[in-house]
Amino acid sequence: MEQYLVGVDAGGTNIRMGIVTPDGRIFKKTQYPMDMSRGSLAMMDELASRIQGVIQEGTPGVLSEIRIGIGVAGPIDMRRDVLVAPPNLPGLHEFRLREFFQEKFSLPIAIENDANAFTLGEGWKGAARGCRHYIGITLGTGVGGGIVVAGKILHGADGMGGEVGHMVLNPEGPLCGCGGRGCLEVYASGSGIRRMVLEAIKKGEGKETLKRNRGDLQKITSEEVFEAAQEGDETALNVFNEMGGYLGLGLVNLVNLFNPEKIVIGGKVSRAWDYFIRSATEVVHQRAMKGQRGKVEIVRAECGDDAGILGAAYAALKME
Ligand SMILES: [Zn+2]
Repeated sequence: MEQYLVGVDAGGTNIRMGIVTPDGRIFKKTQYPMDMSRGSLAMMDELASRIQGVIQEGTPGVLSEIRIGIGVAGPIDMRRDVLVAPPNLPGLHEFRLREFFQEKFSLPIAIENDANAFTLGEGWKGAARGCRHYIGITLGTGVGGGIVVAGKILHGADGMGGEVGHMVLNPEGPLCGCGGRGCLEVYASGSGIRRMVLEAIKKGEGKETLKRNRGDLQKITSEEVFEAAQEGDETALNVFNEMGGYLGLGLVNLVNLFNPEKIVIGGKVSRAWDYFIRSATEVVHQRAMKGQRGKVEIVRAECGDDAGILGAAYAALKME
């Protein structure tokens, strides 16, 4: 009987899924925008029926062994498989993920946090292939991450560990979505970059960036800051440089704490790699402990949008 894995990445603004073979090839890949306007429950119902559709079209049904892996924007209490106040899915606090999906599918189901799924995907088929100790960081609207120790993702007591985006770098820093202050996320995420540019403009800098945006400050996106950096805009370059400095501090903490072989950085903000990585690695070389920093490689993610699908499928493949 042939094995098929269904990898689902329900992390960001788009939900992606595909059938994945046990050796990591994806086929029947599909994606659709997450529509929260009809409510969270309708969104989950649609997700279940899309998964059903992919299974029907992509596998020979009863003639195959099918497992489903779902990466969800958490936090997830992994002991109960319940969402705990998820900032991106506000209506789904205490939503019983396993119960919901198990009712729809009588198949083995692995549930994982989306950033952990990204990390597992990069470890299976991407930039951290062959590593036993590595860390994944996604720089998107927020900052997510996963920590792999001795080949296993670190879940902590409840499954909510590995939140690298909420490492505190500056106790007096800007407020973070988690309720704390000065987390890595407020500096290294898309929204952090936007905030830093707006602050620079307030101080009278950023004339070029401002012009390009036809004067409407509130509409500046991190992508536009990236484009401005590509055109040599000084304010944009300074913001990425500063962002890299904070990211570097985060990396120092991770390097000292976990002594990883690799740290893999992905997510849409990582497109601006060339503009932040120099200041980030400088900080690592200056501040991380000598023994740990010598070996660690800080690398770009390789799987692109497929990392979450692959990692969710991998979690299903490896479930006991
Ligand atoms: Zn935070």
